[in-house]
This record gives sequence, C-alpha cells and structure tokens, in this order.
Amino acid sequence: MLQQINVEEKRLEDYRSIIGDSKMEEILALAAPLKGAKVLHVNATAFGGGVSEILYALVPLMRDVGLDAEWQILHGEDEFFNVTKSFHNALQGAEISLTEEAKEIFNRYGRLNAEALEGDYDFVLMHDPQTAAIRHYHGHEGGKHWIWRCHIDTSTPYPEVWNFLQPYLEIYDAGIFTLEQYVYGDLEFPVLALITPTIDPLSPKNRPQTLQESREIIRRFGIDTNRPLLVQVSRFDPWKDPLGVTDAYRMIKVQMPELQLALVGSMASDDPEGWDYYERTIRHAGEDYDVHILHNLHGVGNVEVNAFQNAADVVIQKSTREGFGMVVTEALWKGKPVIGGNVGGIPLQVIDGKTGYLVDNPLMCAERCYHLLQHPEESKAMGQAAQEHVRDNFLITEHLKNYLKLFTKLSAF
Ligand code: UDP
Repeated sequence: MLQQINVEEKRLEDYRSIIGDSKMEEILALAAPLKGAKVLHVNATAFGGGVSEILYALVPLMRDVGLDAEWQILHGEDEFFNVTKSFHNALQGAEISLTEEAKEIFNRYGRLNAEALEGDYDFVLMHDPQTAAIRHYHGHEGGKHWIWRCHIDTSTPYPEVWNFLQPYLEIYDAGIFTLEQYVYGDLEFPVLALITPTIDPLSPKNRPQTLQESREIIRRFGIDTNRPLLVQVSRFDPWKDPLGVTDAYRMIKVQMPELQLALVGSMASDDPEGWDYYERTIRHAGEDYDVHILHNLHGVGNVEVNAFQNAADVVIQKSTREGFGMVVTEALWKGKPVIGGNVGGIPLQVIDGKTGYLVDNPLMCAERCYHLLQHPEESKAMGQAAQEHVRDNFLITEHLKNYLKLFTKLSAF
C-alpha cells in the first residue's frame, strides 16, 4: 500500500469572508452532483515544494464539499529521486544523458508503485513526472478517470526525456498544465485542463501576521529589523537563481550599505541536489554576514516563512525557470510587490509595473529593487493591487472550483 498522508480538517465556510458569497455558491453548486466521488492524489513528497503545499489544503476542502478524497505518496529511494530530479531538470530544458540504467530505475519504481496502489477510485490524480509511469503499470483497473497533473514548465523540454515520457502520459484521460504552452510537441489528452496552483489564505504560512510579530520572528535568525531587507524564499536550485539574487543584492549594497538579504530555502526529500546547491550559495555569499542563508533545519517552518515574506522590504523571485511560483503568490497575498524573473507562471502573477516588476537579469533586478526601496508609497500601492490580484485568481478555493469543473467534464465521458 502507498503511504497515506493525514491532513487536518478544513471548512469551506471559513473562506466565505475572503472570497465572497457568489464564489462560494458557485463551488457548492459544482460539488453537489459529485458528492461521494472517490478521489486519490498521488505525489512524491509530503514536505517541501508547491505540490504538497496545495494538497494539504485541497484534500481537506474536497472532503468538506462531500468528496471522498485521499492523498498518498509514492515509494522511492535515492536512486529513483536522482533519476526523477534529472528528468525534472530535463523537462525544464537541461540537457542530460538518459542512460538505460535511468530508464530501468524509473520503470522499476513505476511498476512497484503501481502494484502498491490499492482501491478503486473515480478520479486518480498523479502529480508530476515521478508518478508518470504508474498508470501504465497499473493497467485499467483502480480508477475510472486517470489524470496527470504537471506542475513544471515543460515548454522547451530536452526532447530525449520528453519522448521517453510521452507514451506514459498520453494514456491518461486528462492532463492538467499550468499554461497551454507547457504542453509540448504532439502530446494530446482527451481532456486538457489549464489550472494554476494557488495558496491557502488560512494556512500558517499565509494567515495575517502583524508586522511586529513578523519582525520578532525574523530577529531570532539574526536579522536587524531596523535595516532594509530583501527576501527570496525558494528551494536551493539553479533555476531559482539564488546566486543571481546575491549578485543583485551586491549591486544595491554599494549604494545602500545597510541592506540585508535573506535567502530562505527548504530541503525537500525528493531533491537530492538541494544540499549541493545550498553549499554553492553559501560559497557565493562569501564572508558577507548581511547575507542570511537559512533553511528548514534551522527552524524556518511555515510561520517563519510567513514572517520573512511579511517583514521583507522587497520580495524577489528571480527564477530563470518556474512552473508557477507559489512563493510569488504568497508574497503578493501579503501585500508585497514582487520582483520576479520573467518566466513560466510568474508573469501571470507579477503584472509589470502594477503588482511588481518582471526582470531578466541581476542588473535589472537590482534597479527595480532599489527603486522600490526608495519609493515606499509606490511599493505600498502596488502591494494592495497585488493582494487583490491574488484574491481574484490564486486562492485555493479557485483551485477547488477548477478541479470540480474538470471532474464534472470527465464524468460526462
Ligand atoms: N517553501 C517553504 N520553505 C522554504 C522554501 C519554500 O515553505 O524554505 C515553500 C514555499 O513557501 C512555497 C513552496 O515551498 O509554498 C514552493 O513552491 P513554488 O511553486 O514557489 O516552487 P517549487 O519549489 O514547487 O518549484
């Protein structure tokens, strides 16, 4: 049996004051005919990264509106996660060498996890490449409708890896991507849904904190709250470009010697490269003690991430590839304009000049940060627009609605 993840209860009703009556009614109307439907989500990890963030909120809300929803994680050892991490990089465009050994490992775990998947479901949702082969090895029982959800930017994948995965993907009944341009080549699904990730406004990471509370928390990590602070919260990963953020910080530091930078990252259990890149980030920062490099093992959990985002003068997400960038959503929701890389899902969220700025390189990043640091009133107005943009489009309730719409569509098949 796959490992079951327990989630807390949540009530949709608690979101009414945030999203308003009409959105609430729409969700309840969509959920009514689906009452009792059995839903299974499978992904690779319960900690770290955007997918697990979403499932902690989405699964309980699906239950609250009457669906019988479960979340299980697949079984994997380092050998498997090394392969899937290289696939993840390749799907985002990195050239890798796809060895016979890697294929064998991917297939072996695909079969093993398919055999461990028990039960009968109306909707089985497989998240990301780690799960891709399970449908193939499981055969046609166990799920009426099989859905593969891709959370990464696959607009320019390394073709060898895409071609290897495509036969596993096209046997799903539906595919979900964040953006249409992520569906590469001639891959087709009977049903294609475009759904963006979202955040839970009531989670400890996004619940309102006063500035005073946030400042108290980040002081514990050595931040001087009387001096300006730039923050990027991300896994330690080349695509998140923590080195570029450090370069941008250095450029501003020349004009503003009191500036501090916090690079906050978590170590996901399916991300073996994380530690290597963490070391590189530390080396790049060198002897500058105004650069604070922190991760979950230092005690930076959800409440602390909330505090860093809320207390930052400017939030940066200088990714060079990004599926969506939930950290961007989190910061915008806290009324912070975000300086974001002009890639993947970031431009959906950062509307240049309105909810933040889009940048292509460290120099541009430094210029925009410096501008916002010098113009706090402008920054505040942008932050308000940012929060409304998230309220309209990127809260977990919207996600629930979109899944219910997809289930309704598939039920008609
Ligand atoms: N995250 C976290 N602690 C960290 C770094 C990241 O809790 O130190 C969370 C972050 O708040 C966000 C998720 O991990 O909710 C990252 O999602 P995103 O879509 O930004 O990137 P991914 O890691 O999925 O590529």
